[in-house]
Amino acid sequence: MTDSNCIFCKIANGEIPSKTLYEDDSFRVILDISPASKGHAIILVKNHAENIYNLSDEDAGKIYVVAKKVAIAMQKVLKCDGMNILQNNGEAAGQTVFHLHMHVIPRYNGDKVQIKWTPQDAAEQISEEVAKEIRETI
Ligand code: AMP
Ligand code: ZN
Repeated sequence: MTDSNCIFCKIANGEIPSKTLYEDDSFRVILDISPASKGHAIILVKNHAENIYNLSDEDAGKIYVVAKKVAIAMQKVLKCDGMNILQNNGEAAGQTVFHLHMHVIPRYNGDKVQIKWTPQDAAEQISEEVAKEIRETI
């Protein structure tokens, strides 16, 4: 399933050429066009899903296996010091392209990449009542 207006559908399915590191039936891994660090790649799902809320269970199960393959290869080749694997859902979370993708960001000691939040105090934690509601909704 692809969306004819979606650029990542076109890239994932090979209609638009890309710098591909890996491809299988479900995913294409490409180099990010505006990398946060040397080697920054994104894993594109081939079946269009806007975000995690409508990703199939099958693709959800498989995407981390791909992330692991890429991370291990990058670690060996790039000799990076660390690796962030992350995925944004919704504008509020920083998503800018609304086709699910997972970032694989090699990290180097002293690099300028910022993936940090300021810890808030415990008052920000949800109440037991809300936690119960979430448990019952899962
Ligand atoms: P996000 O903010 O999580 O939606 O990430 C979107 C990512 O896609 C950004 O890191 C962009 O640099 C990257 N990006 C956007 N268009 C392209 C493209 N045509 N080829 C490769 N990467 C892209
Ligand atoms: Zn798409």
